[in-house]
Amino acid sequence: MKIPIDLKTGSIDAKEEKDVIVGIDLGTTNSLVAYISGENPVTIKSNCGQNALTPSVLHFSKDETIIVGDEAKKFLVSDPQNTVFSVKRLMGKSYNDVSKLKSSIGYEIIDEDKEALVKIRVKNKFYSPIELSSEILKSLKKDAENHLKHPITKAVITVPAYFNDAQRQATRDAGKLAGLDVLRIVNEPTAASLAYGIGLSRDVVSNIAVYDLGGGTFDISVLHLEDGVFDVLSTHGDTFLGGDDIDRLIIEHWENKYIPLQGDEAKSLNFGQEIRLAAEEAKIFLSSHDHFLSKIGNLYLDLDKTTFETLILPVIQKTMDSVRLAVKDSGLKTEEIDKVILVGGSSRIPLIKKHLKEFFGITPDDSVNPDEVVALGAAIQADILAGNRKDILLLDVSPLSLGIETVGGLMDTIIPRNSKVPAKAGRQYTTSVDGQANLRISVYQGERDLVQHNRKLGEFILRNIPGMVAGMPKIEVQFIIDADGILTVKARELRSGIESSIDIRSTYGISEEQMALMLLDSIKNAEGDVQRRGILEAVNEANNILQASEKFIKQNEDILSEDEIVMLRNLTVKLEKAVDSSEKDTIHTAITKLNDYSLPLAQRALDVNISKALKGVKV
Ligand code: ADP
Ligand code: MG
Repeated sequence: MKIPIDLKTGSIDAKEEKDVIVGIDLGTTNSLVAYISGENPVTIKSNCGQNALTPSVLHFSKDETIIVGDEAKKFLVSDPQNTVFSVKRLMGKSYNDVSKLKSSIGYEIIDEDKEALVKIRVKNKFYSPIELSSEILKSLKKDAENHLKHPITKAVITVPAYFNDAQRQATRDAGKLAGLDVLRIVNEPTAASLAYGIGLSRDVVSNIAVYDLGGGTFDISVLHLEDGVFDVLSTHGDTFLGGDDIDRLIIEHWENKYIPLQGDEAKSLNFGQEIRLAAEEAKIFLSSHDHFLSKIGNLYLDLDKTTFETLILPVIQKTMDSVRLAVKDSGLKTEEIDKVILVGGSSRIPLIKKHLKEFFGITPDDSVNPDEVVALGAAIQADILAGNRKDILLLDVSPLSLGIETVGGLMDTIIPRNSKVPAKAGRQYTTSVDGQANLRISVYQGERDLVQHNRKLGEFILRNIPGMVAGMPKIEVQFIIDADGILTVKARELRSGIESSIDIRSTYGISEEQMALMLLDSIKNAEGDVQRRGILEAVNEANNILQASEKFIKQNEDILSEDEIVMLRNLTVKLEKAVDSSEKDTIHTAITKLNDYSLPLAQRALDVNISKALKGVKV
């Protein structure tokens, strides 16, 4: 038995010794682990490196032992086939999503099944991105254990705000595989603002924009702070935009300028990797100098700041488009943003600061090391979860709307975009066909009115609905997003109590680029979408009424006069024609005419049937 002694007072502490919960920034390019030492968050240095950054790189040696970090990074040049980097970009992806990456990596991605989850082959073994990420986590865990001299079993891990449910789940799974109980998946910008200490005192009211440009992902978030509570007002971003892209632009520039002259040497893999490293070196150098010059073999590579800034301007402008959208979504005016925080190594590029300053009218803050800020914040979040800072509550948002497909392929949003999570919302539906026993629930994520333009997350079928006429069953569909942003969808027929639910985490695959585009698309196509939705809703209504009229005529032939039946048939034919015309107003007019004419007939039929029933006549 251990008896903890309070070193400050010298008294024996009756409480159990508290677990240290570490905060982990599992980055595309670099990963870090941090914890709370005394009052303050500190990062833990990796074993072989002098600093806290552990490059998210793995190397597989001949006997298949895996090394992670700086040591592994050295093999990028000498042994590219057995050196894996940027695994985070592969998390929760299919080959189709990542095929364009293939040209920029030396290791092998399996493309046998383009739809299935990505696998990586190293030597003769296949690895999933989850397994590879778990190796990085294991390495961080070991560093923390060596430093703290006791086992680490609990962690908070950060992810970009744009990560979808599948990617968050994959990150959790990687943690589990590394032997870590992942207490919380936290959005990186939320962690970053915590690291700035914003929100640790209760009397501050503030609006904060967090601009995070790392190696592989870009995130912009607008947060509101009040009463020590963070509220993420909006998020935007692109999980396919970062420093890697900037490196690629430099490489392309050099290729155009020099490589046609180089012949065979230029085609070798090693040369490619050396160029990659030189490009990164140039970029970092140009953050504080005006001219870069280096040499690979006989080849001199140079780049001046003006050329560099011209090259990367499109990337920066792309991020600024997201910044504008995020501010717009937040409902705040640009002048209402009190603070802009810089996160991620790439945010050190001076041109970015210039653009942000121009847009917001304030100088962005990078006083907490942009490489470490997320991990430091994760450590603070871990401390909060450990119960050490009970006064702070974190709220997050779901970045895209979530809903189900309804008749005609319409998107019915149940949890709107930027809703706070955890969130729970539901809506009632019914069947459209008599005796319908099964109802398919297809779950989508996105902003467009037609599901075909949105992202399908999964589907399931509510089976064995007891036989009832169309419209009778009451089917409640519930969406629940937990604190990690993971979605559960439940469907329940209320009259019979039968129910079914789906685990969204099983659906992976579809490009993240598409996801970011979806938001822009929804704005561009808003007008057309509203029109199409209007037509589809009218068509759905018309079809329901046509079905009902058909049934009504069949069931009441003896009550209706011949003229009445002819008139009803005329009106239904007119409605059918209106449906064919796809003109919303024509359809609504025809619906009204048919309804107006059939209403008194329906009333009469009801009266007759009731009196028949009262007389004991079977109807
Ligand atoms: P991630 O969060 O994706 O792991 P990081 O925040 O660690 O990424 O940022 C890594 C990226 O930052 C790399 O692309 C690296 O080249 C870039 N970077 C680091 N320092 C600088 C700098 N001074 N100027 C420009 N880019 C930098
Ligand atoms: Mg990062």
